[in-house]
Amino acid sequence: MLEISGLHAAYGDARVLSDISLSVGEGEIVALLGPNGAGKTTLVKSASGTLPPTAGTVRLGDAELTRLRLHHVAAAGLAVVPEGRRLFTRLTVLDNLEVGAYTREARAHLDETLARVYELFPVLRDRTQQQSGTLSGGEQQMLAIGRALMARPRFLLMDEPSLGLSPLLVGQMFALIQQVAELGLGVLLVEQNVAQALEVSQRGYVLEEGSIVEEGTREQLLASPRVREAYLAL
Ligand code: ATP
Repeated sequence: MLEISGLHAAYGDARVLSDISLSVGEGEIVALLGPNGAGKTTLVKSASGTLPPTAGTVRLGDAELTRLRLHHVAAAGLAVVPEGRRLFTRLTVLDNLEVGAYTREARAHLDETLARVYELFPVLRDRTQQQSGTLSGGEQQMLAIGRALMARPRFLLMDEPSLGLSPLLVGQMFALIQQVAELGLGVLLVEQNVAQALEVSQRGYVLEEGSIVEEGTREQLLASPRVREAYLAL
């Protein structure tokens, strides 16, 4: 279980997150919804060690991640698919995947994990030596997810994986995320594509102005007046 409790985060004096508590179970997809500027990316950063929280804890099993350095966060089992993918666009597909395997454990299992990533995303196998900046948007997003998987995480934080993809590819991306969860990984899915995100999620949270204002199962959120009006335009 990935468990965030009482998390606060700020950029200097600007407080962005206040008292965030949420959990993600193994094999579970949990949606994190909210408008632009609500603090979703900040939550991803502060849960994964890029922006140390000002208070609160992030636990993964027995490990307390907020005290760890980045590569130890990865070693503990948490990986991030960042907003905007952040690929090394001049490097090949294979180089990008190898970069993802940066913990000792991941390096020791590199070939095995690579085979699993190629099984999940066959198109990446076909393009191993291609410069990643020349991939299509959908392929780049697959590569970003594949790179995160190379660290052999148990939990993934995905920041808007469908951003910039065509409607057809968005559907495919969500199907792939479901496959990732079926491998037993827990996924926190930050999304603006609310209807589709909820379709693949078991539960979700709504973040507004830095606080969780609502949480529930998919069914509860789909029935919630707030979610229907503000996020599903119903
Ligand atoms: P989006 O969907 O637009 O990415 P978000 O919900 O991810 O929105 P954040 O990017 O986490 O929101 O931003 C939350 C707040 O923190 C915003 O008010 C933003 O202006 C502010 N903020 C984000 N990054 C920084 C930064 N590096 N320095 C100062 N303030 C920041």
